[in-house]
This record gives sequence, C-alpha cells and structure tokens, in this order.
Amino acid sequence: MRYVSTRGQAPSVGFIDAVLGGLAPDGGLYVPETWPQISAQEIAGFADKPYAEVAARVIGAFADGEIAAADLREMCHEAYATFTHTAVVPLTQLQPGLFIAELFHGPSLAFKDVAMQILARLYDHLLGPQKRNQTILCATSGDTGGAAVEAFRGRRNVKVVALFPEGRISEVQRRFMTTAAESNVACVAVKGSFDDCQAIVKLAFQDQSLRQAVDLSGVNSINFARIAAQAVYYFTTAVALGAPERKVSFCVPSGNFGDAFAGYVAHRMGLPMSRILVATNSNDILARTFETGRYTRGKVHPTMSPAMDIQSASNFERLYFEGVQREATETARAFAAFADTGAIDVPPQAFAAMRELFRGVSVSEADTVRTIVATLNETGELIDPHTAVAVSAQGRAHDLEGPVVVMSTAHPAKFPEAVAKACGVTPELPRGVADLVSRPERFDRLPAEAETIKAYVRAFAEG
Ligand SMILES: *Cc1c(COP(=O)(O)O)cnc(C)c1O
Repeated sequence: MRYVSTRGQAPSVGFIDAVLGGLAPDGGLYVPETWPQISAQEIAGFADKPYAEVAARVIGAFADGEIAAADLREMCHEAYATFTHTAVVPLTQLQPGLFIAELFHGPSLAFKDVAMQILARLYDHLLGPQKRNQTILCATSGDTGGAAVEAFRGRRNVKVVALFPEGRISEVQRRFMTTAAESNVACVAVKGSFDDCQAIVKLAFQDQSLRQAVDLSGVNSINFARIAAQAVYYFTTAVALGAPERKVSFCVPSGNFGDAFAGYVAHRMGLPMSRILVATNSNDILARTFETGRYTRGKVHPTMSPAMDIQSASNFERLYFEGVQREATETARAFAAFADTGAIDVPPQAFAAMRELFRGVSVSEADTVRTIVATLNETGELIDPHTAVAVSAQGRAHDLEGPVVVMSTAHPAKFPEAVAKACGVTPELPRGVADLVSRPERFDRLPAEAETIKAYVRAFAEG
C-alpha cells in the first residue's frame, strides 16, 4: 500500500515511512492511495473475535506487505492487554437505541490510548532493527500527551517532547504527562493555546535541518497509523449492534477531526453506516463547516471539554481531499489559503459529498452541564464533559437512523473538577492510577515561540 500527500508535492511512500514521517514534506497529510476493502461477510465475522484480532485485520489492511501479519497480531495483543476491560472498548446502554462506546479503559484513561499503545509498539518494531533513534514532538490539547508518554516512556529508540498549553488542561491530564520519571520524556508548558502548540509543531516539521538532526516524528492524529487504529472500534461497536445488516449512526466529540475521520475510513473500507454526527463545544469550526460549507477559523474559547478547544482541525484536510475527488492541487491551494486568511469555502460538490455522511452540532457549556446531570439522574452513569457534548448533540439531531453509538472519549475522573462542578459527584480514579496526584511532577515552561521550542527539542534530543 502506497501513501500519497493531500498536497501532491511529495513522493508517495510506504506504510512504514508514512508512520515514521508524520506530516508529508510538502505540508500535506498522507492518505492511502486506495481504500482497502473488507467484505460484509468478513465484517459480520468480527462479532465473534477478540478486539485485538479485529485490530490486526484492520490495521493490517494498511500495513499490507510491510509488517508480517504474525508480528502485527502479537503487537495488537500486547497493546490491548494494557486495557483494564477485556472487551477493550465496551458498550454501555444509556437509553433504548443509545449506547456509549467506552474508549477510556487504557493507561491514561482517554481514547488516545487506543491508537497510541499500538503505535508505540510499531515504532519499537520498526526502529529497533534499523538501530534508528527518533524524536517525537507532539502538541497536546490534554490527552495526546498523556497517552504518548504512557505508551513511549522508557522505550529505547524514541524520545518524546510533549507541548501543552499552560493552564488549559486539567491537573489529571497534566499529571499523566509530567509524572513520568523516564529520561526519554520531556514535557513543556507553552504560554499559549493548543493551536499555538500545533502551529509550532508544524513549523518544526517544515524545518529540514531540525527534522534531520533529531529524526523528527509525529504522533498527532496527522499520523495515519492513528487513524487506522481508531477505525477498528467503529467496526467492533457497529458489529455488536447488528452491522453490517443494520446501519448504525455514530456521534463523535471532535476537535482535530481524527476520531471522526477514522469513522469515515471504516465506512470507506466497507462498513455500512447511517451517519456520523460531529459534536463540538463552542469551538465550533467543524459543526459550522458541516452545516454551512464554510470552514472558517474562530477565536479559541476555553471550555470544560478542553481536548476540543481547537479551531483548525488538521484532519479536515483529508476529508476535503476526498471531497474534491483527490485533486491535490486544489487541496494545496485551499489549505494555503486557510493558513493565510483563516477561511475556505468548500466547493458545492465536495460539500454535498460530505453531507452524505456527516452532520455537525455545537453544544454550549450550559447544555454540557445539563447533560452530565441528566445522564447521572436517568442512568446512574457518570460521563465526562467531552462525552456529554456528544450525548447532548445526538439529542438535537433529527436524522440519525438505527442505533446511535456515542464515542465516550475520556474517563470522568480525567476531569474531576468539571464533573463535580456540574453534578456534585467527584469521580474516582480507577485503582491502578489512584496515586497519580501524589507522584512528583517534572516539566519546563516556554513561550509560544517556534525558534525557542525548536532549540529546546534539539538540545533534548542531542542531550
Ligand atoms: C483528543 C480528544 C478528543 C478529540 O478527538 P479528535 O480526534 O481530535 O477529534 C475528544 N475527546 C477527548 C477526551 C480527547 O482527548
């Protein structure tokens, strides 16, 4: 399987290079040249399989020919053995026809573990034999950093630098990053927003000298392996609810559009779906786009669902590329214009294609609070603010057919202050991480300046 850049100015690469390289050298995102297909019959058979087996099959479709199937199966089994629930992503029913997919049973209690645990094992598998050392630079709106640190801490061939917006993430989120004692991990509190952090990461990747000096790699959801790993739970949850015979709808709390785009990928691979509802908080760039066809950056507002405080959704470029029938020149033009002006009009045909599957809803802080309270009162389930945004959004959508699966992206104990403030109940950390608040922390503080941060990364990688 070859991977092409959405901007068309970079040579195509294989799976391994797409994974280790992160962003394509022309600033675009890698996508597979064609979407691998899984037959309805095989999808139906997923119902009887352990999660790790389905993961090996789905991810294997993208790694075709570059990673031995037996090795990938072993990595998937190891990765998903770190989850504290044997189903890995269990479904909980909230109402007739409404389910939440609990994506938070991994080591850092957020859905990003699902992809990161397999990604870290892929890196080990690929870098070790090449005797190659890489530096992973990631911007985090809170959960990517924790998941990356949990997955990569202590690994021999990788150093990790996690940039997070100072004061914009919860204490528990921060502690999942900053309490790692291993010397291959560095955490940086940046005086700025998540979008600032992400922009600095993009600049670092465009700096060829830095890129080579530290063998830079990225595990943000621009990394296609993450998308592939996240497509897996669309299959497992849909099949548990009667797919492929029965169409299922999904509602996904969205920031960088990685998770929701993974649903699109599962659909393109052959999984029948009714809709994907993209739920945002008041940082509503995606919700507005799917309703109006205009992709326009707004100001970032801090909310109680900080992992979604994003106003430029990296993975939207991949959907745009598909929407314009894979016209790389048009995609490059549009996203260069977006970088300049902060606005793009989605061409009418591309917008119509997006609307075949996607809808968007944005949810206020007040509705998020009301949903946490109502869900607790009506079901006894405590849900985190990101999940609550999606539960609220699906309640306002009129055209979701079939059972609805809400992606529950974080354990409520990851946001204890917000949950307690909303409903008066403080969620408890699961037993395995109960001592998190007493572990010592270690991080540096830097201004949101690309040159300063690039120098820091270079020094850490070389030190
Ligand atoms: C990262 C994250 C999201 C947003 O996921 P995207 O793939 O960026 O859209 C939602 N909820 C939580 C808890 C997250 O950590």
